[in-house]
Amino acid sequence: MQMMINGASVDNEEKITIKNPADNSFVDTVPLASLQDAKNAINSAFNAKKDMMSLTSREISQILFDIHDDLSENLDKFAELITRETGKTIRDSMMEMERSLDTLKLSAEESKRIYGETIPIDAGIGGENTLGFTLRIPLGVISAITPFNYPVNLAIHKIAPAIAAKNTVVFKPSIKAPLTALKLTELINDRLPAGAVNSLTGDSKIIGDEIVTNALIDKVSFTGSVETGVSITKKAGMKKITLELGGNDPLVVFEDANLDDAVAAAVKGSYLNAGQVCIAIKRIIVDDKIADDFIQKLVSMSRKLNVGDPLNPKTDIGPLIDLNAALYVENIVKDALNNGAELLCGGKREGNYYQPTVLDEVSPKMKLVQDETFGPVAPIIRVNGVDEALKTANNTRYGLQAGVFTESIKLARRAVDEIDAGTVLINKSTFRTDNMPFGGFKMSGMGKEGVKYAIEDMTRFKLVILG
Ligand code: NAD
Repeated sequence: MQMMINGASVDNEEKITIKNPADNSFVDTVPLASLQDAKNAINSAFNAKKDMMSLTSREISQILFDIHDDLSENLDKFAELITRETGKTIRDSMMEMERSLDTLKLSAEESKRIYGETIPIDAGIGGENTLGFTLRIPLGVISAITPFNYPVNLAIHKIAPAIAAKNTVVFKPSIKAPLTALKLTELINDRLPAGAVNSLTGDSKIIGDEIVTNALIDKVSFTGSVETGVSITKKAGMKKITLELGGNDPLVVFEDANLDDAVAAAVKGSYLNAGQVCIAIKRIIVDDKIADDFIQKLVSMSRKLNVGDPLNPKTDIGPLIDLNAALYVENIVKDALNNGAELLCGGKREGNYYQPTVLDEVSPKMKLVQDETFGPVAPIIRVNGVDEALKTANNTRYGLQAGVFTESIKLARRAVDEIDAGTVLINKSTFRTDNMPFGGFKMSGMGKEGVKYAIEDMTRFKLVILG
């Protein structure tokens, strides 16, 4: 695959090899971008601003619908390539592609609804005989940086709203899963003025720094880890920044919860995409009075999951993205076991695979539940009563989503008020639709995505005063 700069495919002699995490087989190569490539991409995006601005909102909307149609014709091919480059199960890759189409459609629709407002200027002293209104205008050049775990939909969550608002884009996908992202940019490029959307693959330091610090960039839209997000805020200077960062989401199971529903939520939330989801359940906080029943059901369901070839439609859990990721999970589970946690099932690594794992007697202070585990692990923290449960739920630096299971409306209200997270879900967990405002509190990020909210963050308003 090649990069896209100023409407043309760009290759380089130096390459990065992409391997299939399921069996380490060769999938493809991508070019290692040079600093000059990054500068060229930024200049192209800057120069393309005029062309984008000259399109009507009606034309922009149609372009996004056309991209939607082009992608839907290639859905299976994209899904298979996601699986081959990330190890995601083919079922989940298809789901990602369905959602990608939805994100495109939502962006096409939303591009016709970018409104300013009239301001009652004559309500202020000196405002007599004066008319004021705002225009919502594009920010300019958006730097879009994405992680490996949802390589297509997270890219579309940045690129499509940016186009909807007539911005231009410099896009840097994760080097761990760049293939579908580059394929997507080719397809988008065919429908847009040259230079409107550019893609770069390469060293995070060299090109990453350039697309964060270059003065021609108006906004950095980043999805990835807390550590990278924090380093970007330090470097970016006076630019708008949106950060969609890591999570350490709790599933809180109160004494009166419907246990079957809570267990089903725990299974989905802990093991989806082998746990490599920002809103995966990373801590299960269970009232001690019902913990034994809950755990028994959870272990029984965890043992039934199929771990194996992600291209097999019957597989529930594929490999982690690479060996380092699998070793990290192995070590962090070992650390918990050395500090008093009890292994109930799983706990084994084979190459890049890690078995679905349930751990009991986890303490809120363990590294396993203080950091983001990003693996198929369900750590149980037993608590006594509501106060301890809510205190434990808030006891990390993260605040992305929280799921709470209770039949009591009063308890649900209290959880909504007291849990410090961007989304609090009642009798649901690990949940996202592509139109909802999505984003975390605390170290989980700042700003919101979800098409309408991303567009708000990718535009600014200009005030017009008519005397
Ligand atoms: P990562 O932070 O390692 O990488 C993310 C992107 O940043 C990649 O494209 C990477 O190449 C780039 N990058 C790395 N260093 C950079 C630098 N110095 N300057 C510019 N760019 C740089 O994250 P990852 O391992 O790919 O993804 C996993 C993380 O992403 C997890 O923490 C997960 O929770 C988070 N995530 C968050 C959301 C969300 O919406 N909140 C969604 C998905 C993933």
